Amino acid sequence: MIVMKFGGSSVANRAQIEKVRHIVAAARDRAPVVVSSAHKGVTDALIDTARAAAEGKDDGGEAVIAKQHAIAESLGCPAALLAEHFAEIRDLLRGIRLVGELSPRSLDYISSFGERMSVRCIADFFSRQGVKAQAFDAWDLGFITDGNFGRARPVADFPERLRKAFDEKVPSGVVPIITGFVAKNEGGVITTLGRNGSDLTASLVGAALRAEEVQIWSDTNGVMTADPGIVEGAKSIPHMRFDEAAELAFFGSRVLHPATLLPAIEADIVVRVLNTNRPDHPGTAISANPPERSEAFTSVAYKEGQTVLTIAEPRMFESVGFLAKVFTQLAESGAVIDMVATSEVSVSVTSHDGASLRAAERHLRALGETDLREGMSILAVVGRGIHTTPGIGARVMKALGTAGVNIEMHSFGMASNNISLVVKDGAIARAVPALHDALFEA
Ligand code: ASP
Ligand code: MG
Repeated sequence: MIVMKFGGSSVANRAQIEKVRHIVAAARDRAPVVVSSAHKGVTDALIDTARAAAEGKDDGGEAVIAKQHAIAESLGCPAALLAEHFAEIRDLLRGIRLVGELSPRSLDYISSFGERMSVRCIADFFSRQGVKAQAFDAWDLGFITDGNFGRARPVADFPERLRKAFDEKVPSGVVPIITGFVAKNEGGVITTLGRNGSDLTASLVGAALRAEEVQIWSDTNGVMTADPGIVEGAKSIPHMRFDEAAELAFFGSRVLHPATLLPAIEADIVVRVLNTNRPDHPGTAISANPPERSEAFTSVAYKEGQTVLTIAEPRMFESVGFLAKVFTQLAESGAVIDMVATSEVSVSVTSHDGASLRAAERHLRALGETDLREGMSILAVVGRGIHTTPGIGARVMKALGTAGVNIEMHSFGMASNNISLVVKDGAIARAVPALHDALFEA
């Protein structure tokens, strides 16, 4: 069995869904299980409308309903297929407008409609086109999570529940089309795994069902050496190790949700990143033991909108427990820390959650002089040969220096597969192509 996940752009409209049908039909003898995102733009539109509703400024959901309706109609789906979902969206938005607030719980509820509607359209279309399919809301197949709205994770016995539900509910010879991203908690309340969470649904389902492979279908030829949107010469990477892919996903490569690889690592399942628009391209295979590669680098990734907090205290010199105090405070403020650099008298940390870092700063003033900077980017050079190849640091620094990019912060751990640098957001458009040139074109 294989799990095939299709992202929003892969199911954006009829033309794309036709491609998906061909891809799934061609995999029929491998028992495909499909996980789908919402049609491109639908989740965004639902969230924007709900935010507007909380301020009394929405259109009652009519624009997003019209968008979904147009896609359903182009696929030839019967009008009744989504009637209940449309009614529920209207009711829910009305409720949000009346109370004038949007709780994380309501936000997950409204966000869930994109996937719930897309899987029904896709399954209906597939069945009429000769690929027998059935739509499932993930929760009906045992996909039950904790109640952490916006970043829910499955309950401990979820793999057994999923296997049991699968055996009972998915008829043989039928391709299940399962909602990515959404779930329910034990109390039956709708949750989501977080934005772009369908990748994670796919790897969790793949691990639970012990699939031979999890395929993530999107719109690039696998994982690229850099964001093809800003580096023209970005190339596809044929093989990667799990840890390299995890670093890249975490440090901003947009192809995979950062948590996707954990279930695959634990179950040792190959994750293949493929292109719906070029199904014959081999894409990227991510696994525990890929073939050896001669290059030290794999890819350059970046993540914008980061905040850096520095705490400087001359008395930190040779004192015991200073860092413990700093990190205890950061944890108490709920700040997720991505990067750390220290000198003898100062420590700098970065987070994508500027609000928590600001909250921490107010307390950390008691420990030393603080400095908070927003609008920063983490640039990550990832590769399994980085820590064993002399001269790499020099090439990275020189490339950035020549491009006139100032390095604000820098971190590289022993035996690490990742050199992380902080630059200003505005420098990314220069820094990434310059680095890519120096590392991959040389
Ligand atoms: N539809 C959800 C989102 O836009 C989940 C996903 O596409 O993976 O974030
Ligand atoms: Mg995605």
